[in-house]
Amino acid sequence: MLEPALLPTPLVDCTDEAFARAGVELRLKRDDLLHPTVPGNKWRKLAPNLAAAVEQGHTRLLTFGGAYSTHLRAVAAAAGALGLESVGLVRGEELADRPRNWSLRAAEAAGMRLEFLTRAEYREATGRAEGEHGTDALLRRWGRCLVLPEGGSNALAAVGAAAIPAELPGLGERDVVCCPVGTGGTLAGIAA
Ligand SMILES: *Cc1c(COP(=O)(O)O)cnc(C)c1O
Repeated sequence: MLEPALLPTPLVDCTDEAFARAGVELRLKRDDLLHPTVPGNKWRKLAPNLAAAVEQGHTRLLTFGGAYSTHLRAVAAAAGALGLESVGLVRGEELADRPRNWSLRAAEAAGMRLEFLTRAEYREATGRAEGEHGTDALLRRWGRCLVLPEGGSNALAAVGAAAIPAELPGLGERDVVCCPVGTGGTLAGIAA
């Protein structure tokens, strides 16, 4: 279990005068405070996947991301905290010989092994990684590992994200929940 720093996360009132005059109340759900190195929606999406990984006896996580992927950093930190190995397949083979940017450096510092793929290799690997247990090619290269999709967005991730609206008391028909979207896993969980 990846222990949360703060759960439920606080709901902060951001209503200003202009909103108040229009009869609109604005609140911000501070999921960024959930965990110091596995922030917000990344914790929500990873927690059920990590529990499943440990239960299934996995010792290594493998996932994908771009050069500044928050998901890669989060997986690296979460795996490190639970004593699991992690592998990050990074889009862009040209990055392999360059000095690491701050984001990839943080992932490596947390213990993640990085491998850099051409765009074509990356498309191929992510497109085939639908199964939870990795494709033949990935298994041959990396051994038994739990494969998490880009952004960590799979069915278990949506279950984790579904806890967000459960922490919004008194949501009514006139309320609107807004959420930033990358792969859409967080939004899918909220909507579900
Ligand atoms: C990862 C991330 C997103 C995208 O989440 P998805 O579930 O991939 O849509 C949005 N905002 C922040 C701050 C993130 O770290």
